[in-house]
Amino acid sequence: MSLIMSRLGKFKKCDNCDQEIFGRSDKRFCGDQCRVSFNNLRNKLSARIIRKINKRLSHNYRILIELNPKGIAKKVKISTLNNAGFSFNYFTSIYITNESGNEYRYCYDHGYRILDDTWLLLVKSNMDS
Ligand SMILES: [Zn+2]
Repeated sequence: MSLIMSRLGKFKKCDNCDQEIFGRSDKRFCGDQCRVSFNNLRNKLSARIIRKINKRLSHNYRILIELNPKGIAKKVKISTLNNAGFSFNYFTSIYITNESGNEYRYCYDHGYRILDDTWLLLVKSNMDS
């Protein structure tokens, strides 16, 4: 019976424990306990990933603020950021200027543009406007 139902696409398994499910066709879990443990695990995993990324972003942000507290355009060595543990793969937005095509990478309102192998330019955007 279940083989025939499987061929017809009606045989379903619990997303949490793989047991066969009976009942409504939109059911995903065999019971409340499986639904709760599935969602708890998923939330735990996504919270961990979000925390990890937020940590890198806020670390980057603190470095940018420390190096440029006044928020003016300022040349800084790339190695200075590297030595402080800056993660260049983590940023919140990219801005490319129309005229020159220069790419600015931001962590929130603080950003930078890489000038060459040694230097970058720190900038701050006016988020109020
Ligand atoms: Zn289950």
